Amino acid sequence: MKEHMARSRPPGTGGNRRSTGTAAIDGLGKAAAPTRAESVGVSSIFGVQVCDVDAPHQSYISDDEDYRFQLPVAVFGQDQGRHSGGKAYEWGAATLHLKHGLHMRLVNVGAASQVRSTGEMGYPVCMVCGQSRSPMSAPKELDAFNEHHIERCGRPIQKIAVYAEVVADALVLPDCASKEAAYSVMEALRQGAAGVLDMEISDLQVQVLGKPGSDKFDGLLYDPMPGGSGLLEQLLEHWSAVVKHTLALVEDCPSACDTSCIDCLQNFRNSFYHEHLNRHVALEHLTSWGDALTPGHVIPAVLPDDSQTKKPGNSPEQQLVAMLKAAGLSNFETERPIKLSGGVVTRPDVYFHAPNEQFDGVCVYLDGMSEHLHGNAQTAAQDRQIRDELLNTDYEVVAIQYQELYDKIVMRTHMRRIAKAVVGKAKAKEVGATDAWFEEAAGQSPQAPAADSSADA
Ligand SMILES: [Zn+2]
Ligand SMILES: [Zn+2]
Repeated sequence: MKEHMARSRPPGTGGNRRSTGTAAIDGLGKAAAPTRAESVGVSSIFGVQVCDVDAPHQSYISDDEDYRFQLPVAVFGQDQGRHSGGKAYEWGAATLHLKHGLHMRLVNVGAASQVRSTGEMGYPVCMVCGQSRSPMSAPKELDAFNEHHIERCGRPIQKIAVYAEVVADALVLPDCASKEAAYSVMEALRQGAAGVLDMEISDLQVQVLGKPGSDKFDGLLYDPMPGGSGLLEQLLEHWSAVVKHTLALVEDCPSACDTSCIDCLQNFRNSFYHEHLNRHVALEHLTSWGDALTPGHVIPAVLPDDSQTKKPGNSPEQQLVAMLKAAGLSNFETERPIKLSGGVVTRPDVYFHAPNEQFDGVCVYLDGMSEHLHGNAQTAAQDRQIRDELLNTDYEVVAIQYQELYDKIVMRTHMRRIAKAVVGKAKAKEVGATDAWFEEAAGQSPQAPAADSSADA
């Protein structure tokens, strides 16, 4: 699948790298708040990476524009386990970490109000031609949009997330007991800093990161300026003044609200987490931790953790082959040509020929390798045509994004589908019940291929 939507450059990213992936919203829904968006727990949505693009303007947008508006969006963050070092501070009973060059993936999953109230995520986009509609469009308009693109582009619209890999300096309040504590303290500090330092509120951004396998949250105040603006260092320098200002802010709300309101912590831009803002919680923490900051140890840089990304020396093709073999699905050929109408020939990365009565063949494609795959709309449409023809002529088609090869949960779904088509339901169940095929393939090096488990062959 190739993407080509209009994009703007998000802070801290650059280059023309295109890639797609499934953005796992993992460990973010662990709080007890029973809204639907929260109860998502671990859910996944197809994501498209935001990158540079030349977008010729159709008209100028001015402040006089009647219908100009900003859409508050729901952004989840993932810590990518990488930064270039920093410093730890003691703040009363708490710890603060200043981390330079922290790598985060920020996933914009849709309109804040929609995600919050219905749990529905994503922006409606035609992945063939790139057209989109507002997620807030009326159902009727979205239906018409969908129908039109099925007819014109050959496939239905998809609800996608957009994500950016952001590298930024950040002040981290690690292991907060609740989302409420993390959001409230960091938002209050940001507004307190804006009252003391020469900055706008939006010059620093608040992000709360869930931690997979933990019920704690990291609160972040990060500097979206590429290369850093120095604001975080200034904040630390004037810590005592900032905390005092922040205390006054959360102690005296003109509306004397119970949690937070537009007279204290809430503003239009932070609407996605209004429900997590509680000035009393911020007050309690700030009072108990005080306004003194004691410098502690130096935090050494953390480089990419290879064991986490599970990217072996294997090429994606080798990795897929290793997984299939480990799952006992080894009766396949690679890149076998299949002739289609109009002289078109397709070579699936993995092909099971005539596995049973049901299918003439099962074709597995690895998509999204930008090094040797195109990325333009025409090729995407061509791929789609080829796959539609296969599906219409007794072939099964399984398309895997190469990034998904390293995602066990997504791969389980693909492997089950392959097993079901090649062998049958019982085999699909067997494959779904174990991770052995994933772990075995992940632990393999190209020099030491696992013994061919050809029991099913
Ligand atoms: Zn389209
Ligand atoms: Zn208030």
